[in-house]
Amino acid sequence: MKTAVSRRHFLQAGGAALAGGAAGFNPVTAGAATPDAASAPALQKLLRKATVPAASGARVIVVGAGWSGLTMAKYLKRFNPAFDVILIDRQSAFVSFPVSNSWLADQVDLDFLSHSFFDAANNHGYHFMQATVLGFDRDSRRVYTERGYLDYEYLVLAPGIEYNYARIGVDDVEAQDLLFHRYPGGFVSSSELLTIKRKVHDFRGGIFMLNVPNGDYRCTAAPYERACMIAAIFKRHRIRARLLLLDMNNDIKIKKKGFTRAFEQLYGDYIEYLPNSEITHVDVEQRRVETEFDEYDFDDAIIYPPVRASRLLETAGIADPDSPQKTAPTDPFRYHLLDDERVYVTGDSRSQPFSKGGHTAHSEAQYVAEVISGHALGKQISWRSPQTMCFSAVDIDPLRAMSIITYYRYNQDRKIFAFDRTHMIETWDAQGGQASLAWAEGMYRDMFYG
Ligand SMILES: Cc1cc2nc3c(=O)[nH]c(=O)nc-3n(C[C@H](O)[C@H](O)[C@H](O)COP(=O)(O)OP(=O)(O)OC[C@H]3O[C@@H](n4cnc5c(N)ncnc54)[C@H](O)[C@@H]3O)c2cc1C
Repeated sequence: MKTAVSRRHFLQAGGAALAGGAAGFNPVTAGAATPDAASAPALQKLLRKATVPAASGARVIVVGAGWSGLTMAKYLKRFNPAFDVILIDRQSAFVSFPVSNSWLADQVDLDFLSHSFFDAANNHGYHFMQATVLGFDRDSRRVYTERGYLDYEYLVLAPGIEYNYARIGVDDVEAQDLLFHRYPGGFVSSSELLTIKRKVHDFRGGIFMLNVPNGDYRCTAAPYERACMIAAIFKRHRIRARLLLLDMNNDIKIKKKGFTRAFEQLYGDYIEYLPNSEITHVDVEQRRVETEFDEYDFDDAIIYPPVRASRLLETAGIADPDSPQKTAPTDPFRYHLLDDERVYVTGDSRSQPFSKGGHTAHSEAQYVAEVISGHALGKQISWRSPQTMCFSAVDIDPLRAMSIITYYRYNQDRKIFAFDRTHMIETWDAQGGQASLAWAEGMYRDMFYG
């Protein structure tokens, strides 16, 4: 029995998103508000058919034009040209998170990270629609956006992650919103990145605080890499600053030897690394972070809370409320909902414990696009592991980086995935720095131009 979204339930979900600002989506308040009388005419608009080109074949709707959705849309057309693919995102343009830490330290410019959804759609033969998906109904196979509804044969959900501020003791929605805007984590939206860059470059001295969340957070190495890049900027500008890196884990989670050496040898005068720092509360007005045992005052900060899957899964009634990150129950090898082979969940909102990385999402999406094409043609596709590849910049002028590459294997006895064929390079050099940029260029080429 499918969990259908009733008209009433849908109107509540739609009203909530509209009241929260459907186009200007806010990952903190989404789903928190309730509809009011003023939103009623707008809700009627949601129940009209969206204006998009008429379907030329079986329609596949992909929600989220991040690393997963962009790759998915391209390869769905590649594996089954008869598919009519529509890629939907609430944003108007793509800004890459990978390599953004190098951009923070002026090693690439914003043009390097920014790309047009129109180019991707034109070059790969699908349609891009800028809209916010508010919910969907699996019985009628219909997706609702603030620009109207669309019907689908297959639905791929790749809406990424959201912050879970309650995990750092900030439960009140208004307090979460304030914290998000004043001290953004820089892991969900591009405005956060712009604010962080301005903060770092304007910093005149004192305590700058960063943290590493626990749980399965987005891009394991990125918070450590970001600490190095910010310390490099302070060092370059001779800013008298102390960078407190509060790690909610008991140790550096990845490339430990490399990051430890960087913290000691390159940034000994700047970075203070504090493991076992479980954050229990953040007082925005007092600029204070509380942990289980201590309190730390800061002058400026980047607060990165633990993460969860996009609230869209919950709004649509497919999330498992008991799962740690509110993910949907899916087939671990084929990615569709356990009770629905027409709906797939990929990228960082997936339920499998693969590393939440752009490269992982990209390689996974190629496989899942083949699975969906195979399903439409009555063909079985054998499982293949996603590949995770991640460069970490540690020094600038020239950019110097280390890297890791890994696959996953399934342990039949323990019923869990584990790393497989892992290769890690924990010494950094300029070749690694150049390789990190070449890797990103190759990815952008594949998703937008190739
Ligand atoms: C600072 C930083 C550095 C990183 N470095 C690396 C790295 O070096 N290597 C690496 O592999 N990975 C890296 N990552 C991780 C990488 O960015 C993510 O893993 C990747 O973006 C996940 O892709 P995704 O498609 O699942 O999610 P996203 O890229 O977040 O895309 C989700 C999309 O869904 C859209 N969306 C969500 N909800 C809706 C809705 N209701 N309606 C319409 N649209 C919606 C969003 O606007 C977004 O565009 C880094 C991340 C950060 C923040």
